[in-house]
Amino acid sequence: MSLLKYYGVEQAMKLVVLVPAICLLGCLPALAEPSCEVLNDLYQNKYIEDFSINRGAFDFGREARFDCGGFDRNFIMARAIHDLETLKPVKGDDPDYYSDVSQVMNLPNNMMSYVDALVHWPDAEARTMHEGPASAIFYTDRMIRSRERFRPTYSLVHEARHTLKHKEFNGQPIPDEPGHVLCTRGKHQGKRACDARLSKEDELVWGSGNSHEFLFLIFVRDHPNASKQIRREAREQLSYLATHMFNALDPGILHYYGVELER
Ligand SMILES: [Zn+2]
Repeated sequence: MSLLKYYGVEQAMKLVVLVPAICLLGCLPALAEPSCEVLNDLYQNKYIEDFSINRGAFDFGREARFDCGGFDRNFIMARAIHDLETLKPVKGDDPDYYSDVSQVMNLPNNMMSYVDALVHWPDAEARTMHEGPASAIFYTDRMIRSRERFRPTYSLVHEARHTLKHKEFNGQPIPDEPGHVLCTRGKHQGKRACDARLSKEDELVWGSGNSHEFLFLIFVRDHPNASKQIRREAREQLSYLATHMFNALDPGILHYYGVELER
């Protein structure tokens, strides 16, 4: 039932305040990157299926192995999913992002795909496209070659939210995600890229991609197993989101989350 919890469908759902974990830095070691062999096996035997990865688009044959450390699209995708798997819930009420995003990606007609670039959105790193009840997340080469280690991971959480249009779970309709609205502030002013309000968790789960990305990054920033680099990237992206990707901020919300605006 974690899908219901993550997406706020269950009426009784109450997210607890995401306070920093009691176990402070140094209490648990940061998780090491997996060996290339382990990552290949996980990808081949688990991740491709758990995340409905389009083998054809990712150009990945049954016996193929990818190299790690460069910009191989399968490696970048595998590492992003591995991040979700290793950042397990810390407290009882934390979402299990691996299981939640996997459940979303396994809804009928959802797919994870890749394209070199999107003709109509040449600057896009990732975009979710819909055709009737079908939704596909496209990662582009810009995403694969991102210099930010953690970007493909939080983008996956963001884009998975966008796939929830005309979907059902266990025969029950899932409320459509609201989609982005025109930005009235920030560097994307005039573009349809913003979420309406930055608010507390119980409201934010109803928001679009930026809202879900924000909640995930708060979870990661405070996660005892996240590496220093990933936590730093999470902090920077949280500031970016608060500064540019929401049209309104609830009073006191930056203090509540411990996030600062970009200077
Ligand atoms: Zn979006």
